[in-house]
Amino acid sequence: MNRRFRIGISPCFFHPDPERNVFKGKTLLYFEQSLVEWVQRGGALPMLVPTDASHISVDEIVSHLDGLVLQGGADMAPQSYGETPARPEWAGDAIRDAYEIALLRACVAKGKPVFGVCRGLQVINVAYGGTLWQDIATMHPEGKTHRDREVYDQLFHDVRIHEGSWLNQVFGATSGRINSVHHQGIRLLGEGLVAEAHSAEDGIVEAIRAATGKTFVAGVQWHPEFQDPGRTDLLSPSTLFASFLREVSRASTETMNAREMP
Ligand code: MN
Repeated sequence: MNRRFRIGISPCFFHPDPERNVFKGKTLLYFEQSLVEWVQRGGALPMLVPTDASHISVDEIVSHLDGLVLQGGADMAPQSYGETPARPEWAGDAIRDAYEIALLRACVAKGKPVFGVCRGLQVINVAYGGTLWQDIATMHPEGKTHRDREVYDQLFHDVRIHEGSWLNQVFGATSGRINSVHHQGIRLLGEGLVAEAHSAEDGIVEAIRAATGKTFVAGVQWHPEFQDPGRTDLLSPSTLFASFLREVSRASTETMNAREMP
């Protein structure tokens, strides 16, 4: 049996909390279950990437992976893109930002494909020098509802997919419907990135890809892992993961060929 592709997952953080009963005052690193299922359903092995680089470097950890998925979760800290939080509750998670940006850079340097989900797309954008709307609802002039606490992953909207983009090839379509569970969104697109899809309602960027460099780097603002793969009215989460895995496979073959060269 061929070895399964090892897909690193960047963890979410529970920072030390003196009020928590279990693991009081300790840092927890975790992944959300449907994300792990999305990767496993696609035939790959999800692996939580450790964050302490004092014993094993980020570069060495990345060398053991075939690709990386940047998981969703907390807002990015405005400081990570040169701003201050407009409200205390929009402070985000600066520790996770710095860790994930370093991880992303290590993957790009080593030719390991990266796929960003929701917050992951935002991390990619900020790493390439872009900025975010701290709060789409109050700051974006035309912003529609992109997150609803009550209906959560049952909020959907349409996207326009740009002709000739990677996503256009993946789905063979120029439009589609996806879920929407995000508080922030791309304001200024990072250098070297292209927008591959926009929200049909207000033009918010819903998918990006790096147009520079050899390493495949892309992200979507929606949560494919939350979408029911059986629903035909939504862009297929299985097709999306399979397409990412093809990039992983290609990169892995290139690395092997490079090793075998005399
Ligand atoms: Mn949205």
